[in-house]
Amino acid sequence: MNIHEYQAKAILRSYGAPVSEGRAVLRAEEAKTAAGALDGPLWVVKAQIHAGGRGKGSFKEADAGEKGGVRLTKSVEEAAEEAKKMLGRTLVTHQTGPAGKQVNRIYIEAGSGIERELYLALLVDRQTSRISFVCSTEGGMDIEEVAESTPEKILSFSVDPVTGYQPYHGRRIAFSLGLEGAQVKQCVKLMGQLYQAFVEKDMEMLEINPLIVAEGGDLKVLDAKLGFDGNAIYRHPDIAELRDETEEDPKELEASKYDLNYIALDGEIGCMVNGAGLAMATMDIIKLYGAEPANFLDVGGGATKEKVTEAFKIITSDENVKGILVNIFGGIMRCDVIAEGVVAAVKEVGLKVPLVVRLEGTNVEKGKEIINTSGLDVIAADNLKDGAEKIVKAVKG
Ligand code: GDP
Ligand code: MN
Repeated sequence: MNIHEYQAKAILRSYGAPVSEGRAVLRAEEAKTAAGALDGPLWVVKAQIHAGGRGKGSFKEADAGEKGGVRLTKSVEEAAEEAKKMLGRTLVTHQTGPAGKQVNRIYIEAGSGIERELYLALLVDRQTSRISFVCSTEGGMDIEEVAESTPEKILSFSVDPVTGYQPYHGRRIAFSLGLEGAQVKQCVKLMGQLYQAFVEKDMEMLEINPLIVAEGGDLKVLDAKLGFDGNAIYRHPDIAELRDETEEDPKELEASKYDLNYIALDGEIGCMVNGAGLAMATMDIIKLYGAEPANFLDVGGGATKEKVTEAFKIITSDENVKGILVNIFGGIMRCDVIAEGVVAAVKEVGLKVPLVVRLEGTNVEKGKEIINTSGLDVIAADNLKDGAEKIVKAVKG
């Protein structure tokens, strides 16, 4: 689960991290009061969306102004003006996709003078099963680009969970970032605060890009992106409350209500599969035959007819879907339950695209009979390869 920058900064501030004063704004009328509560001479006006690259992004609407989603202003009036221009408009960044995201919240922050922009992140490194610090002197840039062109400029340090964070971790990071004097001490302290926040709040990812050396030499958190482990959210009702459903894919949101493992993707073939491994294999084989999956969907082992119906409805509601592949290997999941769900969903919402169904396993004959007698225009497939070939052919001709 992700949260907004201003919420992330509030959490980091509560751990003592150096963060500028700021105010979140939901309505244009509030902008001037919010900016007026902050000291100048610089006011930064920042679009709050769950995507990075805002500074280099652009708005779809002409009246949002020429600049991106992060604007430096020199007066309270100007800050309020820029906030008004951005609210309600659609910001497109390299992380939002071409559709962009509507800006419903603005964060106005007391601006900082910048000497250097650094990169810092904490994440769970699956290779070592440890929490790792990742840092780079190339802050403020797209880190994927740095990783691609100058990978040697990205360093990582993992922390042994038995000892936890130790000051020497912080000193190593400080030296590799070229920090000196009092900055080293600040860095050791800040890294400890970030590590503590990361562990206590069950984060998956913490990214500060940029971490700056401000004019005068002090370290400061200028941008903050936090991601939380969805499986641990029940332990943090305060964080669960920060969830902004308007930022989430409506299809994924709907799927989560029915406890479906669904992730929306950009392709044209909708997939309904049982089991995460089979779902991955199905996506792979669709790609192998030259098409792209529109989603990942694992309906799970004990799915009911109702759950399958909802899953099918979610898939068909995606206008990118040009064909659907149902691929079920029934072990715990029974093929007849899947068949009933598919038939029920089609009766409710109709079927405007080709549908290939591959059923195998428990109650397969019963399942096939339900489909065959339903009157649905279904293309039957015998195995995974056959199913992938048939759906790609049906969609691509
Ligand atoms: P992002 O584009 O979504 O990553 O948003 P950031 O919060 O990282 O801001 C983008 C860039 O705007 C930063 O890398 C800085 O160069 C600049 N910026 C943000 N806040 C300030 C500020 O307080 N002062 C100055 N001078 N620049 C800022
Ligand atoms: Mn940033």
